[in-house]
Amino acid sequence: MKNCLVVDDSKVIRKVARHILESLDLTVTEAVDGQDALTQCEASLPDVVLLDWNMPVMSGMEFLQALSATKMEARPKIIFCTTENGISHIKAAVEAGADEYVMKPFDRETLESKLAIVGVI
Ligand SMILES: [Mg+2]
Repeated sequence: MKNCLVVDDSKVIRKVARHILESLDLTVTEAVDGQDALTQCEASLPDVVLLDWNMPVMSGMEFLQALSATKMEARPKIIFCTTENGISHIKAAVEAGADEYVMKPFDRETLESKLAIVGVI
């Protein structure tokens, strides 16, 4: 089974994402901010990261930059989550290494299609 690391400071979003991802036969781990996610990636690299933008401690953008700076043998696929009023962030996220993006609130169909595009399912 492939693993998805869900990175979001909202417990509700993590719970919703977990529910959807597990229904798509992925195993799920959770991180509460970018720093937590980076630590987890250094310990065990997930296949895909579902990444929030706005988080305390370390934002999604800072996580992308920190991940690029590490010397990992492989790189997880990154699906970046944004809101309608954060749409200007998409270009910056893609330039920083995000593979795809989803708009919040996301549903099962959207997430499934994005995971297929990045080749995880
Ligand atoms: Mg957030």
